[in-house]
Amino acid sequence: MRNGILFVEFLTLLHTFAANILEGIQMKYPPEPFKIKTVEHIARTTDAERQQYIKNAGYNVFSIPAEKIYIDLLTDSGTSAMSDKQWAGMMNGDESYAGSRNYFHFEATIKKIFGFKHIIPTHQGRVAENLLFSTIIKPGYVIPNNNHFDTTRANIEYNGGIAKDLVNDAAKDTNLILPFKGNIDIQKLESLIQTVGPENVPIGMITITNNSGGGQPVSMENIRATSKMLHKYDIPFFIDACRFAENAWFIKQREGGYAEKPILEIAQEMFSYADGCTMSAKKDGLVNMGGFMALNDDELAQKVTNRLILIEGFPTYGGLSGRDLEAISIGLNEVLDETYLAYRVGQVEQLGEKLAAAGVPFLKPTGGHAVYLDAKNFLPHIPQSEFPGIALTVELYTHAGIRAVEIGSLMFAQKDIKTGETIFPDLELVRLAIPRRVYTNSQMDFVAENIIEIFERRNDIKGFEIVKEAPVLRHFTAELKPLA
Ligand SMILES: *Cc1c(COP(=O)(O)O)cnc(C)c1O
Repeated sequence: MRNGILFVEFLTLLHTFAANILEGIQMKYPPEPFKIKTVEHIARTTDAERQQYIKNAGYNVFSIPAEKIYIDLLTDSGTSAMSDKQWAGMMNGDESYAGSRNYFHFEATIKKIFGFKHIIPTHQGRVAENLLFSTIIKPGYVIPNNNHFDTTRANIEYNGGIAKDLVNDAAKDTNLILPFKGNIDIQKLESLIQTVGPENVPIGMITITNNSGGGQPVSMENIRATSKMLHKYDIPFFIDACRFAENAWFIKQREGGYAEKPILEIAQEMFSYADGCTMSAKKDGLVNMGGFMALNDDELAQKVTNRLILIEGFPTYGGLSGRDLEAISIGLNEVLDETYLAYRVGQVEQLGEKLAAAGVPFLKPTGGHAVYLDAKNFLPHIPQSEFPGIALTVELYTHAGIRAVEIGSLMFAQKDIKTGETIFPDLELVRLAIPRRVYTNSQMDFVAENIIEIFERRNDIKGFEIVKEAPVLRHFTAELKPLA
């Protein structure tokens, strides 16, 4: 009987093999859907050089000159490779102060995908956040989200507001494999609104995909339910849309009823439930700089535009050149391509699969733009007060010239105002963010192999302490030193 089953399995394998040959190359993960037209040299450094560079940087990878890095996974933000069409589009930049033709392309593309009435360009995502929150927040106002991104939280708090993270509890278990770990907890959302009163909640938000929560997607059902709940209390619903196309791709793969729908239609449906969005085009806009806010409310749009003129520029350029607006417009169309999205999300998943095979702990399943190493479980001998995420980030650089970013205690630990005690975040993550269309699959294999090497000698890695820190967003500039 046992042999019989094996034989059937063998036949199935043979059959699959034959079918693959017949259909041409069938790979689990699609190869790059582009060829390389321009190359940029990247330098390799020696172990001794890297030891010196990291020391000079106060053990903070933000302070290492980028030329001293081999594979830079610090962020997927503004690091995309633009296409030949985007570069060609830049030559069609119309640098008129007012009414540049590129603004009209930009506006038309965003209206097509996002469907909102007013399109306000900004030079990056956080300016859209700044404009929004400085207009709508009064001290004590509360803004719920699945997980606020760091700039979103900082802009809310700077304006006297309170940023609340209401992601579902399952998201905190890094090993639980669920399709939509970015979902907001609808019950928590309603009880928050009732506790603080809807008059103190000027908007509710959801971040797609949930960057601070591991790049996990949010389901269409959850977007719809969030919209319904907020609107029940007359609270406008805004989407932090930075990775909307990756989120739409996950909906297409994982949510019933969407397998046959084009990405454009899925995106249009997601935004149809919202009243506005903020977006950093440095992510799914496939550009190096840019952002926008889009919304339906005429009065709010007017107020925001007045402020835009004060801090960014005229409403048809908002801190961007005509050529930048053109590149964003083309990028937003390119990102909807399913061959691109299959390769993109597949590249991230593939890195995760290699790490999983070696037992390396990371947040599962992999998200859309990054693999988040679980530093708490990678380095269980280092307590949160000694920054296990920083220890791992430093090791990645000194071992292989790879730059990643800590998303843990250095970024998020807070002091309790009453007791003075430190409140540590639930997770200590090290994000390996994959720039779009930049690194080949063989470079990603290099990353996997080196992480596995570090994992094998993890017990030798030591913790860190802070030497110098800034009062807000300290992770960008803090200086640290290794503990003896
Ligand atoms: C990057 C990002 C932002 C801020 O955008 P910038 O262009 O970096 O200012 C806001 N929210 C999320 C989810 C992001 O990933």
